[in-house]
Amino acid sequence: MSFVPRIAIVGAGPGGLVLARLLHVAAIPATVFEREAHALARPQGGTLDLHADSGQLALQLAGLDEDFRRIARYEDQGNRVYDKTGTLLFSDDGTHGDRPEVDRTALREILLASIPADTIRWGQNLSEVRPRADGAYDLIFGGETAGPFDLVVGADGTWSRTRPLVSAYKPQYTGLTFIEFGIDDVDRRHPVLSAFVGRGKMDAQSDGRAMIIQRNGNAHLRGYAIFRVPADWATATFDFTAPTLARARLAKEFEGWAPEFLDLIHAGNDHIVPRPIHALPVGHHWPTRIGVTLIGDAAHVMSPFGGEGVNAAMLDAAELGRHLVEADDWKTGVSTYEAEMFERVVEPAAYAAEAVATELSHIGQELTLKHMNEHIGAG
Ligand SMILES: Cc1cc2nc3c(=O)[nH]c(=O)nc-3n(C[C@H](O)[C@H](O)[C@H](O)COP(=O)(O)OP(=O)(O)OC[C@H]3O[C@@H](n4cnc5c(N)ncnc54)[C@H](O)[C@@H]3O)c2cc1C
Repeated sequence: MSFVPRIAIVGAGPGGLVLARLLHVAAIPATVFEREAHALARPQGGTLDLHADSGQLALQLAGLDEDFRRIARYEDQGNRVYDKTGTLLFSDDGTHGDRPEVDRTALREILLASIPADTIRWGQNLSEVRPRADGAYDLIFGGETAGPFDLVVGADGTWSRTRPLVSAYKPQYTGLTFIEFGIDDVDRRHPVLSAFVGRGKMDAQSDGRAMIIQRNGNAHLRGYAIFRVPADWATATFDFTAPTLARARLAKEFEGWAPEFLDLIHAGNDHIVPRPIHALPVGHHWPTRIGVTLIGDAAHVMSPFGGEGVNAAMLDAAELGRHLVEADDWKTGVSTYEAEMFERVVEPAAYAAEAVATELSHIGQELTLKHMNEHIGAG
């Protein structure tokens, strides 16, 4: 690159951090601005399966293969599908898979350890990206300003404050709300439930609702109860400040299901929160604007079905990093990245949208089983 731009990355999620790492390796300076106060300000969420041709590839390109192998849980790739009576309809132990699970916190830790600590400015909640008369951009955080920057990369997730500079689109509610809950120390405290879920993911759908449970590291289970409801239904129906009451109310929604499902809810800790699922339209794109681009959920948030979101975010980061390093002119690097990304993301986004449309439909579980049999095969 003949001229090295001043680069700001907004957001220290998986996308922003992979990009920061790649630029660091190439000795291109960049600053990451993150609204969280510090690395452990909030639990980073559940388990993610990293795909060989995207999430894993991004970590290889970032030189973090060895760290990845240290945190990868190949043993937790199983899949089970039950009906509401607790009858097992599909089971695969997952031992032949190449989509190992990693805990989000472990992923963030290896990425943070791979860049100098002063690359990140914590506690910086971006309110606006402001264009300057000279063609560069300032970042506005409440009353404070940082800049100028030649290139601002929005890696700031679903509700990106960078996106309005390139696109008028906002993520739309998909009609599905997840209620997330967690179970600690499951192997020791709830061995029956541990055996019911198995080593990986468990899925059950019936009566217009679903339950997905994922095994995380450290004998933790993360559960999602899924409903097709108006966007404000969960907050209007549950008191999430009173976890015991919220669990009891959630269990009522699953009355008539096998006792294991109800026991999973009652075994939950006090982390019980609503997650209304939003998505940008399939094929979301924008005309290139010099000096601003987006990666990950900021560019193409999709429903979590298919488990592509984090993989797509990390691959975006790897590709943008590669184009910035390889291009003679950074502006061409960014526009090439965008053109390729718009095409690349259509397929996973279409899959995620299709899954949202059919989840909890009259043939919902039939489709899940068909997908499992075609793509995973009975174990
Ligand atoms: C319930 C649920 C389950 C999911 N399960 C899976 C799964 O199993 N597999 C999978 O691949 N994907 C899953 N996803 C999707 C996945 O979480 C995202 O696709 C992925 O995290 C996107 O990474 P990112 O770096 O683009 O954004 P994010 O991970 O959202 O990171 C954005 C970062 O930007 C910061 N930020 C946001 N706004 C600002 C601001 N104004 N100023 C400064 N910083 C800001 C945030 O604090 C955060 O650190 C799931 C999503 C949900 C909602």
